[in-house]
Amino acid sequence: MLEQSGLVRAIGRVARHGPGRPAAPYEWGGVTAGVESTPVPHAGHGAPALPPRVVRPSDNAGAVIDPADTALIAVDVQRDFLPGGALGVTGGDAVVAPIRELAAHAGLVVATRDFHPPGHCSFAAQGGPWPPHCVIGTSGAALHPDINAIAQLIVSKGTDPAVEQYSGFDGTGLGDLLRARGVRRVVIGGLATDYCVRATALAACGEGFATTVVRDAVRAVDRQPGDGERALNEIRAAGGHVSTLAEILGAMPVPRRRQGALVQRPQR
Ligand SMILES: [Zn+2]
Repeated sequence: MLEQSGLVRAIGRVARHGPGRPAAPYEWGGVTAGVESTPVPHAGHGAPALPPRVVRPSDNAGAVIDPADTALIAVDVQRDFLPGGALGVTGGDAVVAPIRELAAHAGLVVATRDFHPPGHCSFAAQGGPWPPHCVIGTSGAALHPDINAIAQLIVSKGTDPAVEQYSGFDGTGLGDLLRARGVRRVVIGGLATDYCVRATALAACGEGFATTVVRDAVRAVDRQPGDGERALNEIRAAGGHVSTLAEILGAMPVPRRRQGALVQRPQR
Protein backbone atom coordinates (compact mmCIF):
# COMPACT_ATOMS: atom_id res chain seq x y z
CA MET A 1 0.00 0.00 0.00
CA LEU A 2 1.24 3.43 -0.81
CA GLU A 3 1.18 6.06 1.82
CA GLN A 4 -1.36 8.78 1.16
CA SER A 5 1.17 11.47 0.41
CA GLY A 6 0.21 13.38 -2.70
CA LEU A 7 3.73 13.39 -4.05
CA VAL A 8 4.30 9.72 -3.47
CA ARG A 9 0.87 8.77 -4.76
CA ALA A 10 1.44 10.82 -7.88
CA ILE A 11 4.48 8.92 -8.96
CA GLY A 12 3.00 5.49 -8.72
CA ARG A 13 5.85 3.09 -8.47
CA VAL A 14 7.85 4.94 -5.87
CA ALA A 15 6.60 3.65 -2.55
CA ARG A 16 7.34 4.94 0.87
CA HIS A 17 7.56 2.60 3.78
CA GLY A 18 4.03 1.86 4.88
CA PRO A 19 2.29 3.04 8.01
CA GLY A 20 3.81 0.18 9.99
CA ARG A 21 7.25 1.47 9.06
CA PRO A 22 7.37 5.15 9.90
CA ALA A 23 10.47 6.84 8.61
CA ALA A 24 13.33 5.20 10.43
CA PRO A 25 16.00 6.43 8.12
CA TYR A 26 19.06 5.72 10.15
CA GLU A 27 18.78 2.38 11.83
CA TRP A 28 21.89 0.27 11.52
CA GLY A 29 22.20 -3.48 11.69
CA GLY A 30 24.95 -6.03 11.34
CA VAL A 31 26.57 -6.33 7.95
CA THR A 32 29.11 -8.24 5.96
CA ALA A 33 32.03 -6.02 5.09
CA GLY A 34 34.26 -6.29 2.07
CA VAL A 35 36.35 -4.28 -0.33
CA GLU A 36 36.49 -4.80 -4.05
CA SER A 37 39.86 -5.84 -5.33
CA THR A 38 41.82 -3.41 -7.45
CA PRO A 39 40.54 -3.74 -10.98
CA VAL A 40 42.88 -5.13 -13.57
CA PRO A 41 42.76 -3.23 -16.86
CA HIS A 42 41.04 -5.40 -19.40
CA ALA A 43 43.70 -6.32 -21.91
CA GLY A 44 42.99 -6.96 -25.51
CA HIS A 45 39.33 -6.16 -25.91
CA GLY A 46 38.91 -4.44 -29.20
CA ALA A 47 37.36 -1.25 -30.47
CA PRO A 48 36.13 0.63 -27.43
CA ALA A 49 34.09 3.54 -28.73
CA LEU A 50 35.37 5.75 -25.94
CA PRO A 51 37.51 8.84 -26.33
CA PRO A 52 41.17 8.20 -25.64
CA ARG A 53 41.68 9.05 -22.02
CA VAL A 54 43.59 7.70 -19.12
CA VAL A 55 41.38 5.22 -17.33
CA ARG A 56 41.83 5.88 -13.68
CA PRO A 57 40.59 3.56 -10.98
CA SER A 58 38.61 6.41 -9.49
CA ASP A 59 37.79 10.03 -9.92
CA ASN A 60 38.05 12.58 -7.14
CA ALA A 61 35.78 15.06 -8.87
CA GLY A 62 32.85 12.88 -7.88
CA ALA A 63 33.96 12.42 -4.31
CA VAL A 64 32.84 15.76 -2.90
CA ILE A 65 29.24 15.41 -1.84
CA ASP A 66 26.94 17.64 0.13
CA PRO A 67 24.36 15.74 2.18
CA ALA A 68 21.91 18.60 1.69
CA ASP A 69 21.44 17.87 -1.99
CA THR A 70 22.63 14.29 -2.30
CA ALA A 71 20.53 11.17 -2.64
CA LEU A 72 22.02 7.73 -2.22
CA ILE A 73 20.53 5.13 -4.54
CA ALA A 74 21.01 1.53 -3.45
CA VAL A 75 20.28 -0.49 -6.57
CA ASP A 76 18.61 -3.89 -6.24
CA VAL A 77 20.29 -5.17 -3.09
CA GLN A 78 17.83 -8.04 -2.96
CA ARG A 79 18.10 -11.61 -1.81
CA ASP A 80 17.95 -13.04 -5.33
CA PHE A 81 20.94 -10.92 -6.39
CA LEU A 82 22.98 -11.81 -3.31
CA PRO A 83 25.09 -14.96 -3.07
CA GLY A 84 22.79 -17.99 -2.89
CA GLY A 85 19.97 -16.17 -4.66
CA ALA A 86 18.40 -17.09 -7.98
CA LEU A 87 20.70 -14.67 -9.77
CA GLY A 88 23.33 -14.21 -7.11
CA VAL A 89 26.22 -11.86 -7.86
CA THR A 90 29.56 -13.13 -6.58
CA GLY A 91 30.59 -11.02 -3.60
CA GLY A 92 27.33 -9.10 -3.82
CA ASP A 93 26.88 -8.93 -0.07
CA ALA A 94 30.03 -6.82 0.15
CA VAL A 95 28.10 -3.81 -1.15
CA VAL A 96 26.00 -3.56 2.00
CA ALA A 97 28.58 -2.12 4.41
CA PRO A 98 29.74 0.68 2.07
CA ILE A 99 26.14 1.58 1.27
CA ARG A 100 25.39 1.87 4.98
CA GLU A 101 28.35 4.18 5.44
CA LEU A 102 27.28 6.31 2.51
CA ALA A 103 23.75 6.58 3.85
CA ALA A 104 25.03 8.69 6.73
CA HIS A 105 26.13 11.32 4.21
CA ALA A 106 23.05 11.41 2.03
CA GLY A 107 20.01 13.54 2.63
CA LEU A 108 17.78 10.90 1.09
CA VAL A 109 18.24 7.15 0.80
CA VAL A 110 16.46 5.45 -2.08
CA ALA A 111 16.40 1.70 -2.66
CA THR A 112 15.42 0.30 -6.02
CA ARG A 113 14.18 -3.23 -6.41
CA ASP A 114 13.37 -5.62 -9.21
CA PHE A 115 9.78 -6.56 -8.52
CA HIS A 116 8.52 -8.97 -11.12
CA PRO A 117 5.21 -10.72 -11.54
CA PRO A 118 5.40 -14.45 -12.32
CA GLY A 119 5.96 -14.93 -16.03
CA HIS A 120 7.87 -11.67 -16.48
CA CYS A 121 9.25 -11.14 -19.96
CA SER A 122 12.85 -11.24 -18.72
CA PHE A 123 12.50 -14.86 -17.55
CA ALA A 124 13.85 -17.70 -19.68
CA ALA A 125 10.45 -19.39 -20.06
CA GLN A 126 9.21 -16.21 -21.73
CA GLY A 127 12.28 -15.97 -23.94
CA GLY A 128 14.21 -13.63 -21.68
CA PRO A 129 17.82 -13.93 -20.59
CA TRP A 130 17.34 -14.67 -16.89
CA PRO A 131 16.00 -17.37 -14.62
CA PRO A 132 12.98 -16.32 -12.59
CA HIS A 133 14.10 -13.81 -9.94
CA CYS A 134 12.71 -11.19 -7.58
CA VAL A 135 9.16 -12.44 -7.99
CA ILE A 136 6.63 -10.40 -6.05
CA GLY A 137 5.65 -12.16 -2.87
CA THR A 138 8.72 -14.39 -2.69
CA SER A 139 11.63 -14.05 -0.29
CA GLY A 140 13.97 -13.56 -3.26
CA ALA A 141 12.42 -10.15 -3.91
CA ALA A 142 13.18 -8.93 -0.38
CA LEU A 143 15.69 -6.16 0.10
CA HIS A 144 18.69 -6.98 2.25
CA PRO A 145 17.45 -6.18 5.77
CA ASP A 146 20.12 -3.54 6.35
CA ILE A 147 19.18 -1.79 3.12
CA ASN A 148 15.51 -2.06 3.97
CA ALA A 149 16.25 -0.44 7.32
CA ILE A 150 17.89 2.64 5.81
CA ALA A 151 15.71 3.10 2.73
CA GLN A 152 13.41 6.11 2.92
CA LEU A 153 11.95 5.48 -0.52
CA ILE A 154 11.60 2.21 -2.39
CA VAL A 155 11.34 2.23 -6.17
CA SER A 156 9.88 -0.91 -7.77
CA LYS A 157 10.65 -1.70 -11.39
CA GLY A 158 9.84 -4.50 -13.78
CA THR A 159 6.36 -4.75 -12.31
CA ASP A 160 4.68 -4.93 -15.72
CA PRO A 161 4.95 -8.48 -17.10
CA ALA A 162 5.73 -7.15 -20.57
CA VAL A 163 8.26 -4.46 -19.64
CA GLU A 164 11.87 -4.83 -18.54
CA GLN A 165 13.32 -1.93 -16.57
CA TYR A 166 16.99 -1.99 -15.62
CA SER A 167 17.06 1.68 -14.61
CA GLY A 168 15.41 2.93 -11.45
CA PHE A 169 14.52 6.09 -13.41
CA ASP A 170 12.76 4.26 -16.23
CA GLY A 171 9.09 5.14 -16.02
CA THR A 172 9.12 5.40 -12.23
CA GLY A 173 9.01 9.16 -11.71
CA LEU A 174 12.16 8.99 -9.60
CA GLY A 175 13.84 11.88 -11.42
CA ASP A 176 10.94 14.22 -10.72
CA LEU A 177 10.77 13.11 -7.13
CA LEU A 178 14.45 13.79 -6.57
CA ARG A 179 14.24 17.20 -8.22
CA ALA A 180 11.20 18.06 -6.11
CA ARG A 181 13.31 17.38 -3.04
CA GLY A 182 16.19 19.52 -4.21
CA VAL A 183 18.49 16.66 -5.05
CA ARG A 184 21.31 17.58 -7.39
CA ARG A 185 23.72 14.70 -6.90
CA VAL A 186 23.10 10.98 -6.75
CA VAL A 187 25.56 8.53 -5.28
CA ILE A 188 25.00 4.99 -6.48
CA GLY A 189 25.85 1.57 -5.11
CA GLY A 190 24.33 -1.87 -5.48
CA LEU A 191 23.91 -4.66 -7.97
CA ALA A 192 24.93 -5.29 -10.57
CA THR A 193 27.51 -2.90 -12.01
CA ASP A 194 27.03 -4.10 -15.57
CA TYR A 195 23.23 -4.15 -15.57
CA CYS A 196 20.97 -2.16 -13.27
CA VAL A 197 23.70 0.01 -11.72
CA ARG A 198 24.92 0.86 -15.21
CA ALA A 199 21.43 1.67 -16.47
CA THR A 200 20.50 3.66 -13.38
CA ALA A 201 23.73 5.68 -13.45
CA LEU A 202 23.47 6.44 -17.16
CA ALA A 203 19.86 7.51 -16.66
CA ALA A 204 20.86 9.71 -13.73
CA CYS A 205 23.43 11.43 -15.95
CA GLY A 206 20.80 11.84 -18.63
CA GLU A 207 18.41 13.36 -16.09
CA GLY A 208 21.04 15.97 -15.28
CA PHE A 209 22.08 14.78 -11.84
CA ALA A 210 25.71 14.91 -10.86
CA THR A 211 26.34 11.20 -10.63
CA THR A 212 28.88 9.24 -8.64
CA VAL A 213 29.15 5.46 -8.68
CA VAL A 214 30.98 4.17 -5.65
CA ARG A 215 33.41 1.51 -6.72
CA ASP A 216 33.47 -0.33 -3.39
CA ALA A 217 29.69 -0.34 -3.22
CA VAL A 218 29.00 -2.16 -6.51
CA ARG A 219 29.70 -5.63 -7.87
CA ALA A 220 29.47 -6.91 -11.42
CA VAL A 221 28.07 -10.07 -12.94
CA ASP A 222 30.91 -10.07 -15.51
CA ARG A 223 29.29 -12.56 -17.85
CA GLN A 224 32.08 -11.46 -20.16
CA PRO A 225 35.26 -10.62 -18.29
CA GLY A 226 35.53 -6.87 -17.97
CA ASP A 227 31.82 -6.11 -18.31
CA GLY A 228 31.83 -4.26 -14.99
CA GLU A 229 34.82 -2.11 -15.90
CA ARG A 230 33.36 -1.34 -19.29
CA ALA A 231 30.16 -0.23 -17.60
CA LEU A 232 32.10 2.13 -15.35
CA ASN A 233 33.86 3.55 -18.39
CA GLU A 234 30.51 4.12 -20.09
CA ILE A 235 29.31 5.97 -17.02
CA ARG A 236 32.42 8.17 -17.08
CA ALA A 237 31.94 8.81 -20.78
CA ALA A 238 28.38 9.95 -20.01
CA GLY A 239 29.71 12.49 -17.53
CA GLY A 240 29.42 10.42 -14.38
CA HIS A 241 32.14 9.84 -11.83
CA VAL A 242 33.54 6.76 -10.20
CA SER A 243 34.92 7.23 -6.70
CA THR A 244 35.86 5.02 -3.79
CA LEU A 245 34.21 5.12 -0.41
CA ALA A 246 37.50 6.28 1.10
CA GLU A 247 37.69 9.20 -1.32
CA ILE A 248 34.16 10.28 -0.44
CA LEU A 249 34.71 9.99 3.29
CA GLY A 250 38.07 11.73 2.91
CA ALA A 251 36.43 14.63 1.11
CA MET A 252 33.93 15.19 3.91
CA PRO A 253 34.56 18.38 5.83
CA VAL A 254 35.84 17.57 9.28
CA PRO A 255 35.98 19.99 12.22
CA ARG A 256 39.76 19.84 12.45
CA ARG A 257 40.17 20.81 8.83
CA ARG A 258 37.64 23.62 9.17
CA GLN A 259 39.34 24.89 12.27
CA GLY A 260 42.70 24.92 10.50
CA ALA A 261 41.27 27.02 7.72
CA LEU A 262 40.03 29.61 10.19
CA VAL A 263 43.38 30.08 11.89
CA GLN A 264 45.41 32.94 10.45
CA ARG A 265 48.94 31.71 9.88
CA PRO A 266 51.83 34.04 9.14
CA GLN A 267 53.23 33.61 5.67
CA ARG A 268 56.73 32.30 5.42
ZN1 LIG B 1 14.79 -8.50 -13.25
